[in-house]
Amino acid sequence: MTQYDVIVVGGGPAGLFAAGFAAQQGARVMLLEKNAHCGAKILITGKGRCNVTHSEEDPRKFVEHFGRNGRALLTALYAFGVKDVVAFFEEKGVPLRIERGGRIFPEQGEAKDVQKAVIAFARDAGVEMCTSCEVKNLPIEDGLVKEVETTAGIFAADNIVVATGGLSYPETGCTGDGYAWAKSCGHRLVKPEPALVPVKLRDPWTAEVSHFNLKNVKITLCVDGKKIDDRFGEAFFTRSGIGGPIILDMSSRIRDALKQGTVKLLLDLKPAVATDLFDKRLQRELAAHSNHEFGHSLGKLLPRDMIPVVLRLVGIDPKKKCHSVTRVERQRLLKLFKEFELDVSGCAGFRKAIITSGGVSLKDIDMRSMRSKHVKNLFFAGEIIDLDGPTGGFNLQECWSTGYLAGLNATTK
Ligand SMILES: Cc1cc2nc3c(=O)[nH]c(=O)nc-3n(C[C@H](O)[C@H](O)[C@H](O)COP(=O)(O)OP(=O)(O)OC[C@H]3O[C@@H](n4cnc5c(N)ncnc54)[C@H](O)[C@@H]3O)c2cc1C
Repeated sequence: MTQYDVIVVGGGPAGLFAAGFAAQQGARVMLLEKNAHCGAKILITGKGRCNVTHSEEDPRKFVEHFGRNGRALLTALYAFGVKDVVAFFEEKGVPLRIERGGRIFPEQGEAKDVQKAVIAFARDAGVEMCTSCEVKNLPIEDGLVKEVETTAGIFAADNIVVATGGLSYPETGCTGDGYAWAKSCGHRLVKPEPALVPVKLRDPWTAEVSHFNLKNVKITLCVDGKKIDDRFGEAFFTRSGIGGPIILDMSSRIRDALKQGTVKLLLDLKPAVATDLFDKRLQRELAAHSNHEFGHSLGKLLPRDMIPVVLRLVGIDPKKKCHSVTRVERQRLLKLFKEFELDVSGCAGFRKAIITSGGVSLKDIDMRSMRSKHVKNLFFAGEIIDLDGPTGGFNLQECWSTGYLAGLNATTK
């Protein structure tokens, strides 16, 4: 049996980085991946464009986006931060550019160029890869993991990096296998939960308007009538509810809110205009179409496909002449533009979660080296760790940084 210096379990962004940087140090590295190809999840990131990282270069500010646990990421970010990621991909022929909200994407290419570049990096660094190889167990012997049991036989190494991801989008190979191994050798697990998920609504009409983006809208989260959070940006209706960046980023709060009471979202389609001013705009619009049917008067105010739904919801006869629309009816219309009430029934599960929150507890990992505090030759990297950030490239940066640090430290005895 070949003895490796390092075995990396999981060929996602964290595992590929860990393996590549360990091999660059001269270590003999084997990467074990259960899919036929590495980096399956990279392909679906950023709607196929891969939001590689975020433009916030200051590690102290970057970690604030990860909430309470964020500070644990500092060493990894100082070791391999945003600038290093940008330089890395530039050097590999995938130049990046900053887009709206500080999101960094490949300048021209797509997610598959990112996947190819990272796989090529690991291969060129000398990593041996065994794909279609599912790791079944990491048995502990004398307090160490000396061998890795897989569907392709047993592999032995001095150090092991576990980068098996979380539980989201299980069809990409993420079935939470690493959690069980971590638990069996004494690591605490913070309950994994689906995070950055779309939200389910009771409103039955969302499927009719699920094909266009709601840009520059504001959404306010209310529990039992009390406003507790709001976000401004982009969202879209789905077949069974609502998704998009502002919903995903609010989804953990929505999940908590659902445990407390009745949850509504208030959609403001025109947040840049105060309610009284928008009312005046509506009056002008109705006056301009005075002798036309109300049903034909909304063209300048709404995307065309949304008009039939709004006409139904507002309860004004579309054939009614605009001059006969009453004040009470206009107020109902105003409410649909400025406080469109959406009735939340739940949050989507792991199948539609962008990431998994929770995971291997930070209390049991030395985050300066990514080494387990219980098993001296075991390291963790990526989403398996109890760290989760918002949308915007934060989560992949976490993978690049922790993968780098784990790979480097796994080459030390
Ligand atoms: C739809 C979608 C869009 C996203 N878009 C973005 C984005 O634009 N920007 C961003 O920052 N983040 C994005 N994310 C999140 C990001 O993709 C993850 O944070 C990241 O992929 C996690 O990387 P990882 O290496 O930790 O795990 P993964 O990418 O999940 O890789 C883990 C690997 O381990 C393998 N594995 C698991 N168990 C075993 C086993 N027993 N044996 C062998 N191999 C195993 C899996 O097959 C998998 O290949 C998105 C996620 C989704 C689902």
